[in-house]
Amino acid sequence: MKNVKCLRCIKCGREYEAAPDATTCECGGILDVVYDYDYIRSVSSPESISASDNYTMWRYRPFLPVEEDTKQPPLRVGWSPLYEEPRMAEKLGIRKLYLKDDGLNPTASLKDRASSMGVAKAIEAGYDTISCSSTGNAASSLAGNAAAAGLKTYIFVPERAPIGKVAQLKIFGATVISVKGNYEETFELSKQAIDEYGWYNRNAAINCYLMEGKKTVALEIAEQLGWQAPDYVALSTGDGCTIAGVWKGFKDLYSAGFIDRLPKLISVQSVNTCPINIAARTGEPWQPMEENTIADSISVGVPRNPDKAINAIVESGGIPVEVTDDEILEAMRVTGRECGVFGEPAGVTGMAGLTKLCAEGKIPADASVAVIVSGNGLKDTANGIKAAGEPIRLEPDMDKFRKVFEELQAK
Ligand SMILES: *Cc1c(COP(=O)(O)O)cnc(C)c1O
Ligand SMILES: [Zn+2]
Repeated sequence: MKNVKCLRCIKCGREYEAAPDATTCECGGILDVVYDYDYIRSVSSPESISASDNYTMWRYRPFLPVEEDTKQPPLRVGWSPLYEEPRMAEKLGIRKLYLKDDGLNPTASLKDRASSMGVAKAIEAGYDTISCSSTGNAASSLAGNAAAAGLKTYIFVPERAPIGKVAQLKIFGATVISVKGNYEETFELSKQAIDEYGWYNRNAAINCYLMEGKKTVALEIAEQLGWQAPDYVALSTGDGCTIAGVWKGFKDLYSAGFIDRLPKLISVQSVNTCPINIAARTGEPWQPMEENTIADSISVGVPRNPDKAINAIVESGGIPVEVTDDEILEAMRVTGRECGVFGEPAGVTGMAGLTKLCAEGKIPADASVAVIVSGNGLKDTANGIKAAGEPIRLEPDMDKFRKVFEELQAK
């Protein structure tokens, strides 16, 4: 990999050669992929990337940690739409609002970006089996992307994972272990099994390459805005790998000279489960919290990538904000009705947080904001109905319909 210098521990600074199955530092710290920006600049430019006809996350190959001859995995991941939403922007009282609909990825969440990378690296390292633990989406995306590439998967999910996500796992042929415990216990079990059986590890906080896949969402936002960062990017935070990846993506482009300023990151968590946000706000070490929100994908009481995430919020001059489950349900409804985009609860939590900040007058009126919708609402239809309500139930009788219709008109 000519574009990668080394892997560097974020805790102790120790450097490692970039082996495809590298995990954490000897000291336990998480590694970070260090790039050679001069080299990247010498082989690519905003213009050369914009001229690419590869409409997947792999159009950013000069910024990705893979060998020159590594094959792009088969599923079409990335290059999701960035919609401009003028009516919502007006409602919120900001200049520009953009919605990045990452629920349109092949297994319907942003996690496909990490899984596509994980599959590429597993094949590079010569493995035929991959494993992970997940609140749901990392698992279903790994199962799908691995299936398409002909790899076996062992997946550990907490028993509360929504049935839509478990159905995806089973359909993609994964061996699924539904752990009778919370996410923390699920993660620990997967770690032990991976150590014992020597599978490739697709746990985003351990495998530093996965965040490099996630960062492509930021590269796309910048390119779709004409190689510019918006003033703010709002998204939900669970383990912290996504927000850390988004920050890495913008910083990579900035370091290579492809964009000339960086956005501020708005990290949105649940009021009940927000260890990363509290640490970012107070500067104190993070503390474990209960896992208690309908937004299952960010119901993470013991985050696995807190340091990179906290750093991303603080270094960007960003804003941590917490929302209630009711505010998340409201965001599901509003995003659906105003934008035609159906997000799962964690998928629209970024929108819920932005809405709250705008109501509190914390976002300047001339700001441009990109909100990432990180997962599709069809994965969790129970909460969709909870947010939007039941249909009108009626016998097949026109007289009865007329009556209902008149009542609706009178409202
Ligand atoms: C995983 C996930 C997140 C949060 O990402 P982290 O890396 O855990 O912070 C947000 N939304 C959805 C839909 C997810 O699946
Ligand atoms: Zn270290």
